[in-house]
Amino acid sequence: MTVRPILSIGHPTLRVVADDVPVDAIASGDVQQLIDDLIETMRHANGAGLAATQIDHRVRIVVMEVGDNPRYPYKPPIPLTVAINPVIEPLNDELVEINEGCLSVPLRGNVHRNVNIRVRYLDRDGVEHDEIKRGLTAGTWQHECDHLDGVLFVDRVSDPSTLATWAEFETYYRDEFVARITKFVERVGS
Ligand code: ZN
Repeated sequence: MTVRPILSIGHPTLRVVADDVPVDAIASGDVQQLIDDLIETMRHANGAGLAATQIDHRVRIVVMEVGDNPRYPYKPPIPLTVAINPVIEPLNDELVEINEGCLSVPLRGNVHRNVNIRVRYLDRDGVEHDEIKRGLTAGTWQHECDHLDGVLFVDRVSDPSTLATWAEFETYYRDEFVARITKFVERVGS
Protein backbone atom coordinates (compact mmCIF):
# COMPACT_ATOMS: atom_id res chain seq x y z
CA MET A 1 0.00 0.00 0.00
CA THR A 2 1.27 3.43 -0.94
CA VAL A 3 0.04 6.87 0.01
CA ARG A 4 -0.40 8.66 -3.32
CA PRO A 5 -0.52 12.41 -4.03
CA ILE A 6 -4.09 13.76 -4.15
CA LEU A 7 -4.86 16.03 -7.10
CA SER A 8 -6.18 19.53 -6.41
CA ILE A 9 -8.98 21.39 -8.19
CA GLY A 10 -7.63 22.63 -11.50
CA HIS A 11 -5.97 19.31 -12.41
CA PRO A 12 -7.58 18.08 -15.66
CA THR A 13 -8.01 14.48 -14.46
CA LEU A 14 -10.54 15.74 -11.88
CA ARG A 15 -12.74 16.77 -14.83
CA VAL A 16 -12.77 13.59 -16.91
CA VAL A 17 -15.56 11.02 -17.11
CA ALA A 18 -13.78 7.91 -15.86
CA ASP A 19 -13.97 4.55 -17.61
CA ASP A 20 -15.75 1.47 -16.31
CA VAL A 21 -13.48 -1.25 -14.95
CA PRO A 22 -13.91 -4.43 -17.05
CA VAL A 23 -15.26 -7.10 -14.72
CA ASP A 24 -12.52 -9.53 -15.68
CA ALA A 25 -9.88 -6.94 -14.71
CA ILE A 26 -11.05 -6.54 -11.09
CA ALA A 27 -8.92 -9.43 -9.83
CA SER A 28 -5.81 -8.15 -11.62
CA GLY A 29 -2.79 -7.01 -9.66
CA ASP A 30 -3.02 -3.49 -11.07
CA VAL A 31 -6.62 -2.94 -9.97
CA GLN A 32 -6.11 -4.55 -6.56
CA GLN A 33 -2.99 -2.40 -6.02
CA LEU A 34 -4.93 0.72 -7.00
CA ILE A 35 -7.66 -0.16 -4.49
CA ASP A 36 -5.09 -0.68 -1.74
CA ASP A 37 -3.50 2.68 -2.56
CA LEU A 38 -6.89 4.43 -2.54
CA ILE A 39 -7.64 3.05 0.92
CA GLU A 40 -4.21 3.96 2.27
CA THR A 41 -4.36 7.47 0.79
CA MET A 42 -7.90 8.10 2.08
CA ARG A 43 -6.94 7.02 5.59
CA HIS A 44 -3.71 9.02 5.57
CA ALA A 45 -5.67 12.18 4.64
CA ASN A 46 -8.54 11.48 7.09
CA GLY A 47 -10.96 11.52 4.17
CA ALA A 48 -14.44 10.01 4.29
CA GLY A 49 -13.97 8.82 0.72
CA LEU A 50 -11.66 8.97 -2.25
CA ALA A 51 -12.17 8.40 -5.97
CA ALA A 52 -9.58 6.97 -8.36
CA THR A 53 -9.61 10.18 -10.40
CA GLN A 54 -8.33 12.04 -7.32
CA ILE A 55 -5.09 10.07 -7.54
CA ASP A 56 -4.92 10.42 -11.33
CA HIS A 57 -6.50 7.12 -12.40
CA ARG A 58 -9.36 7.47 -14.87
CA VAL A 59 -11.35 4.44 -13.75
CA ARG A 60 -14.64 4.11 -11.90
CA ILE A 61 -13.54 3.08 -8.42
CA VAL A 62 -14.32 4.84 -5.14
CA VAL A 63 -13.52 3.93 -1.55
CA MET A 64 -15.35 5.17 1.55
CA GLU A 65 -14.86 4.74 5.27
CA VAL A 66 -16.03 6.75 8.25
CA GLY A 67 -14.96 5.83 11.75
CA ASP A 68 -14.01 8.46 14.31
CA ASN A 69 -13.10 11.01 11.67
CA PRO A 70 -11.65 14.33 12.95
CA ARG A 71 -12.54 16.01 9.63
CA TYR A 72 -16.20 14.94 9.89
CA PRO A 73 -17.01 14.10 13.55
CA TYR A 74 -20.81 14.33 12.90
CA LYS A 75 -20.84 11.69 10.15
CA PRO A 76 -22.41 8.32 10.96
CA PRO A 77 -20.01 5.41 10.53
CA ILE A 78 -19.46 3.82 7.12
CA PRO A 79 -17.62 0.49 7.09
CA LEU A 80 -14.73 0.31 4.64
CA THR A 81 -16.42 0.12 1.23
CA VAL A 82 -14.87 -0.38 -2.20
CA ALA A 83 -17.31 0.43 -5.01
CA ILE A 84 -16.41 -0.41 -8.62
CA ASN A 85 -18.57 0.92 -11.49
CA PRO A 86 -21.11 2.36 -9.01
CA VAL A 87 -24.51 3.50 -10.25
CA ILE A 88 -26.74 5.76 -8.15
CA GLU A 89 -30.49 6.12 -8.52
CA PRO A 90 -32.44 8.62 -6.36
CA LEU A 91 -35.49 6.97 -4.78
CA ASN A 92 -37.52 10.17 -4.37
CA ASP A 93 -37.18 13.95 -4.41
CA GLU A 94 -36.26 14.50 -0.75
CA LEU A 95 -33.14 16.65 -0.45
CA VAL A 96 -30.91 17.73 2.41
CA GLU A 97 -28.44 20.62 2.42
CA ILE A 98 -25.04 19.30 3.52
CA ASN A 99 -21.90 21.31 4.18
CA GLU A 100 -19.27 19.34 2.27
CA GLY A 101 -15.53 19.29 2.01
CA CYS A 102 -13.26 17.45 -0.41
CA LEU A 103 -9.64 16.31 -0.31
CA SER A 104 -9.17 17.99 -3.71
CA VAL A 105 -10.68 21.37 -2.75
CA PRO A 106 -9.42 23.65 0.05
CA LEU A 107 -12.96 24.93 0.79
CA ARG A 108 -16.24 23.75 2.22
CA GLY A 109 -19.68 24.72 0.98
CA ASN A 110 -23.35 23.80 1.08
CA VAL A 111 -24.72 21.30 -1.43
CA HIS A 112 -28.17 19.74 -1.80
CA ARG A 113 -28.09 15.94 -1.95
CA ASN A 114 -30.72 13.27 -2.30
CA VAL A 115 -31.62 11.73 1.05
CA ASN A 116 -32.66 8.31 -0.25
CA ILE A 117 -30.73 6.53 -2.98
CA ARG A 118 -30.23 3.07 -4.41
CA VAL A 119 -26.62 2.11 -5.18
CA ARG A 120 -25.46 -0.75 -7.36
CA TYR A 121 -21.77 -1.60 -7.58
CA LEU A 122 -19.19 -4.36 -7.57
CA ASP A 123 -16.84 -4.86 -4.65
CA ARG A 124 -13.14 -5.75 -4.94
CA ASP A 125 -14.03 -9.43 -5.18
CA GLY A 126 -16.32 -8.72 -8.13
CA VAL A 127 -19.45 -9.40 -6.06
CA GLU A 128 -22.55 -7.41 -7.07
CA HIS A 129 -24.24 -5.21 -4.48
CA ASP A 130 -27.67 -3.53 -4.63
CA GLU A 131 -28.30 -1.41 -1.53
CA ILE A 132 -30.30 1.51 -0.16
CA LYS A 133 -28.36 4.41 1.40
CA ARG A 134 -29.84 7.31 3.32
CA GLY A 135 -28.93 10.64 4.85
CA LEU A 136 -25.33 11.75 5.18
CA THR A 137 -24.14 8.35 4.02
CA ALA A 138 -26.14 8.81 0.82
CA GLY A 139 -24.51 12.24 0.52
CA THR A 140 -21.04 10.74 0.78
CA TRP A 141 -21.91 8.24 -1.98
CA GLN A 142 -23.16 11.03 -4.25
CA HIS A 143 -20.05 13.15 -3.60
CA GLU A 144 -17.66 10.29 -4.38
CA CYS A 145 -19.54 9.05 -7.46
CA ASP A 146 -19.68 12.62 -8.81
CA HIS A 147 -15.86 12.48 -8.99
CA LEU A 148 -16.14 9.64 -11.52
CA ASP A 149 -18.08 11.98 -13.82
CA GLY A 150 -15.64 14.86 -13.43
CA VAL A 151 -17.98 16.75 -11.09
CA LEU A 152 -16.73 18.51 -7.95
CA PHE A 153 -18.97 19.60 -5.08
CA VAL A 154 -18.23 23.25 -5.86
CA ASP A 155 -20.14 22.75 -9.15
CA ARG A 156 -23.24 21.95 -7.09
CA VAL A 157 -22.95 24.79 -4.55
CA SER A 158 -26.12 26.75 -5.25
CA ASP A 159 -25.19 29.62 -2.93
CA PRO A 160 -21.49 30.50 -3.34
CA SER A 161 -21.66 32.68 -0.23
CA THR A 162 -21.59 29.43 1.77
CA LEU A 163 -18.05 28.69 0.55
CA ALA A 164 -15.53 28.92 3.39
CA THR A 165 -12.06 27.71 4.24
CA TRP A 166 -11.93 24.98 6.86
CA ALA A 167 -10.66 27.50 9.44
CA GLU A 168 -13.45 29.98 8.79
CA PHE A 169 -16.01 27.17 8.73
CA GLU A 170 -14.83 26.09 12.18
CA THR A 171 -15.11 29.66 13.47
CA TYR A 172 -18.37 30.85 11.91
CA TYR A 173 -20.48 27.97 10.62
CA ARG A 174 -19.60 24.74 12.36
CA ASP A 175 -21.83 24.95 15.44
CA GLU A 176 -24.96 25.86 13.49
CA PHE A 177 -24.33 23.19 10.85
CA VAL A 178 -23.54 20.45 13.35
CA ALA A 179 -26.68 21.27 15.37
CA ARG A 180 -28.86 21.13 12.25
CA ILE A 181 -27.27 18.03 10.76
CA THR A 182 -27.23 16.16 14.07
CA LYS A 183 -31.03 16.55 14.27
CA PHE A 184 -31.25 15.34 10.67
CA VAL A 185 -29.08 12.29 11.40
CA GLU A 186 -31.20 11.46 14.44
CA ARG A 187 -34.30 11.55 12.25
CA VAL A 188 -32.92 9.69 9.23
CA GLY A 189 -30.65 7.32 11.16
CA SER A 190 -27.61 7.52 8.93
ZN1 ZN B 1 -14.18 14.88 -3.07
